[in-house]
Amino acid sequence: MNPFYSFDERLTRLAAEAESQAAEAFAAMDEVCAYNEAKVLHAFSECRVSESHFVGSTGYGYGDRGREVLDEVYAKVFGAEDALVRHNFVSGTHALTVALFGVLRMGDVMVSLTGAPYDTMEEVIGIRGEGNGSLRDFGVTYRQVDLLADGTPDYEAIKQQAVGAKIVYIQRSRGYSLRESFSVETIGKMIRAAKEANPDVIAVVDNCYGEFVEKTEPTAVGADLIVGSLIKNPGGGIAKTGGYIAGRHDLVELCSYRLTCVGMGKEVGCTLGESRGMFLGLYFAPSVVCSAVKTSIFALSLFSKLGYEVYPSFDAHRTDIIAAIALGDRERLVAFCQGIQKGSPVDSFVAPEPWDMPGYESEVIMAAGAFTLGASIELSADAPLREPYAVWLQGGLTYNTGKLGILLAAQEMASRGVLDPK
Ligand SMILES: *Cc1c(COP(=O)(O)O)cnc(C)c1O
Repeated sequence: MNPFYSFDERLTRLAAEAESQAAEAFAAMDEVCAYNEAKVLHAFSECRVSESHFVGSTGYGYGDRGREVLDEVYAKVFGAEDALVRHNFVSGTHALTVALFGVLRMGDVMVSLTGAPYDTMEEVIGIRGEGNGSLRDFGVTYRQVDLLADGTPDYEAIKQQAVGAKIVYIQRSRGYSLRESFSVETIGKMIRAAKEANPDVIAVVDNCYGEFVEKTEPTAVGADLIVGSLIKNPGGGIAKTGGYIAGRHDLVELCSYRLTCVGMGKEVGCTLGESRGMFLGLYFAPSVVCSAVKTSIFALSLFSKLGYEVYPSFDAHRTDIIAAIALGDRERLVAFCQGIQKGSPVDSFVAPEPWDMPGYESEVIMAAGAFTLGASIELSADAPLREPYAVWLQGGLTYNTGKLGILLAAQEMASRGVLDPK
């Protein structure tokens, strides 16, 4: 294949088969990518993005045009009335926290329509922990509509639970679960069911990992707010940090009051020098997301050929960048992650080990050798050490390097004699 890496013969053969089997799925992603690149380019042009917008402000950041225009571009790309895009969001969890605390008040009810939320949201909501300033401590009641046994939304229960709720909360991506991620179309059905029962309910979508995987975002199907992280999809591997909230103007304003101060909201907050990276990252995002999805399609195709359970199947309609592979035991998991690490451009020489990461319930192993610490739009693999010992895989800034990372993971398993399922 090349003089730099060598793989077992069987692996090389299966990889070629996996890739040709994926040709149609790749072509479908290319089509989505072309559409989204046109959408982003058009938004840049409509918003008259100019070099002067890349100059960073200091201090209070009054009148920072770059900050304002970036918000406009995001709003246009996401088909939203308004957006709040800031490097000050330290993570996706932080952006989601600002959105929930920005909108919810004492006595309000929040209902998750997609079962248990992402692990790090449990403490924010108050499902775990007490007396630490969670939503529950501030008098917000949390309820949850579990998914049906087949992983689909429970529309009847959604209609019942939406009554009296202030917010219905939808998580697009699978997170650390093996359920399907939800398409924008399915998210629309959930929102319609909730609003049929309660027209005033505010639909908030955790859009992490979903941006640019489809041609539209949940704002097109009734989401009042969508929220995500810039070290995932929309940062395009370029933004060094940050997050966004986009949606209804009045709600984005409330969120901005929570991020800065009531009354000041979006008018303050210097950009230092971060705007250029956030613009450039958004510009690259559709194509980087496409590379990430192709990397995941390749991994799904290869590991299903090897005999593992994979989620979703390689030819599924994609709505997030995540692939999960049930590897079955600790040894396979650790070998896989250490192989991914070997295929990273940064810190390829270190070997990740399981540890107790803050915010997560069980031990976790994380492989990531990224230009941006923790960026999961770059090739990375995470796995909680619990049954069914599944690894969640995401990212790949370019397809060819992503594919090499997957092959190095498989080769590491082969070298340790654990490539085949138990
Ligand atoms: C990553 C992620 C989050 C949280 O984002 P962080 O940046 O890790 O805090 C929330 N929800 C989902 C579905 C995610 O994938």
